[in-house]
Amino acid sequence: MSDNSLRIVWVYPDLLSTYGDQGNVLVVERRARQRGLDVARLDVRSDQPIPTSGDIYLIGGGEDRPQRLAAERLRRDRHLYQAVNNGAIVFAVCAGYQILGHEFVNDLGQREPGLGLLDVTTTRGEGERCVGDVLADIDPRLGLPQLTGFENHQGVTHLGPTARPLAQVRLGKGNGTGDGTEGAYNDTVFGTYMHGPVLARNPQIADLLLKLALDVNALPPTDDRWFEALRDERISTAQQQPA
Ligand code: GLN
Repeated sequence: MSDNSLRIVWVYPDLLSTYGDQGNVLVVERRARQRGLDVARLDVRSDQPIPTSGDIYLIGGGEDRPQRLAAERLRRDRHLYQAVNNGAIVFAVCAGYQILGHEFVNDLGQREPGLGLLDVTTTRGEGERCVGDVLADIDPRLGLPQLTGFENHQGVTHLGPTARPLAQVRLGKGNGTGDGTEGAYNDTVFGTYMHGPVLARNPQIADLLLKLALDVNALPPTDDRWFEALRDERISTAQQQPA
């Protein structure tokens, strides 16, 4: 942590915030406050510089054109690279996930460079969009319960050797490559296709981000009955759907 307060940066809410992804920042913020932490939340629009002193950066999903604009601005701004070099945590969803990789296909059908912060490359899927509920088993190294989310994307994301799959899907398409992988991560940079918002459905991931930012192995427990009820409902609804 850079000073006394945990600095949470919500990157480009004006371009990247589909399907309630803003909920991710609310969940991280609330769970940090519940643990008695001082939180400074910074919402950074795309016409503003990205601060380099953040502890956790959250990036949402977006339609194809805003996604291209966001990638252009983040490349030009360069501060996210510096933040990651400083040890910051980044958690990105869908379009945000694709932007963290080496490249993706933009709204003009052209290959658009990403930030290269994750060793992944996104191509345009030839088949139907990947749309629907996702149930996925997270990488056992991360030791978290089954994940639930909602996906809606055309991109298909291929992992390079230094990116680990975040999870393996039981239901849904995830990265869309047919190998069952969903999302990717390296030490401190995480990407997923799951909306939901994913941290409301899976608050354990929010806690994982907090533990990494605080460099601690455990956090004081919280009353998660509401979250558990939502989880159970989403899992049983997803399981009733045809695969
Ligand atoms: N535009 C990207 C795609 O369709 C990301 C969509 C999203 O963020 N939901 O692959």
